Amino acid sequence: MVLNSNIAIDGPAGAGKSTVAKLVARKLGFTYIDTGAMYRAIALKALNDEVSMNDVSGLARLAKDAAVNLETGPGGEIRVLLNGKDVTEQIRKPEVSRVVSLVARVPGVRKQLIEMQKALAEKGGVVMEGRDIGTVVLPEAKVKVFLYASPKERARRRREELAQKGCYVDSFKMEEEIAERDRMDSSRKINPLVPAPDAELIDCSSLTVEQVVNIIMEKVCHS
Ligand code: C5P
Repeated sequence: MVLNSNIAIDGPAGAGKSTVAKLVARKLGFTYIDTGAMYRAIALKALNDEVSMNDVSGLARLAKDAAVNLETGPGGEIRVLLNGKDVTEQIRKPEVSRVVSLVARVPGVRKQLIEMQKALAEKGGVVMEGRDIGTVVLPEAKVKVFLYASPKERARRRREELAQKGCYVDSFKMEEEIAERDRMDSSRKINPLVPAPDAELIDCSSLTVEQVVNIIMEKVCHS
């Protein structure tokens, strides 16, 4: 593999993209970029500033004015900064999850964030995860994967992830929220959640994290 190529990892909520992408990045010494965190930061700002989720131009303006940065914290963890303020924990709150897909469907918001994402990957050596990385942000990436799993399994994983942070969510509610987010992300007019034609589809329902990482590393070695 050319060492400065990029890797695109897409898929629906809770398929395990973050865990897998971080491990692949660590193995290769690449930079991990969570594009969902960027959309979440804009959604958080919209909630804080009381911008309506239907105010398309207000949301686009907000995205244009907001400075979203991803930094590596002291323990190697990724911190999300919004206008210089650490919002890493706040962007994972259920109220942000509930509205983030509404913010992500706004063309002006996407334009702004996609420009930033392309710039971050310009020099290569990036593992980027999201919904439209293989199709829109990095269509030239040599390695593209689309991770998915059954909605039940994805809801279980998300609940476990949140429980580790001390946040407990009803399993039925979680399944409903994930299904609604899938529906909005897959059916939106611009840059919907779809696998790139040249992406490898990986069903993670019954695979361990290590198995998924190995499949991707195999692809990297042969690219
Ligand atoms: O990855 P995560 O679940 O944190 O993403 C939150 C939301 O951000 C997604 O449900 C989707 O609406 C939006 N998103 C997107 N395009 C990306 C990454 C995330 O539209 N590349």
